[in-house]
Amino acid sequence: MQKRVFDNKNIEILWNSEVVDVLGNNKVESVEVLNNLKNTKSKLKISGLFIAIGHKPNTDIFKDYLDLDENGYILTKPGTTQTNIKGIFATGDAQDKIYRQAVTAAGTGCMGALEAEKFLSENNLT
Ligand SMILES: Cc1cc2nc3c(=O)[nH]c(=O)nc-3n(C[C@H](O)[C@H](O)[C@H](O)COP(=O)(O)OP(=O)(O)OC[C@H]3O[C@@H](n4cnc5c(N)ncnc54)[C@H](O)[C@@H]3O)c2cc1C
Repeated sequence: MQKRVFDNKNIEILWNSEVVDVLGNNKVESVEVLNNLKNTKSKLKISGLFIAIGHKPNTDIFKDYLDLDENGYILTKPGTTQTNIKGIFATGDAQDKIYRQAVTAAGTGCMGALEAEKFLSENNLT
């Protein structure tokens, strides 16, 4: 992904920069950008803004219990939501490093709910 960005001539990379304010009347017209090395602020004229939140799933609290891959995604048995611990099911973006979409998260959420219900009834835990 980094290489694709570097190779794309339409993209200008602003290193060490943070958007600290979005400015405009009724629509985005510019952003205020902080250079966090020089501690200076500048204005950048834009007409749109897309915010991405990174690629690290928030699964650290499970790392002592559940098998995770090298990027922190919870590993599940293929075609199921079963983790390495019986009765613990993982769904959504915490275990899906490919699609990471609302609709796929809802789909695996449904799978997890059905598998959990089956586990509870098969073990007389309902
Ligand atoms: C900018 C952006 C745009 C997107 N656009 C689209 C789109 O157009 N279409 C689409 O289909 N998908 C889109 N997605 C992806 C979609 O939002 C996710 O795939 C989906 O929300 C994943 O659902 P989830 O339930 O697995 O996780 P989340 O929705 O992330 O829910 C996880 C929940 O767990 C909570 N949580 C985290 N840690 C703890 C903890 N320790 N204790 C208790 N609670 C905790 C969080 O607060 C959160 O409420 C977009 C995502 C982003 C970031």
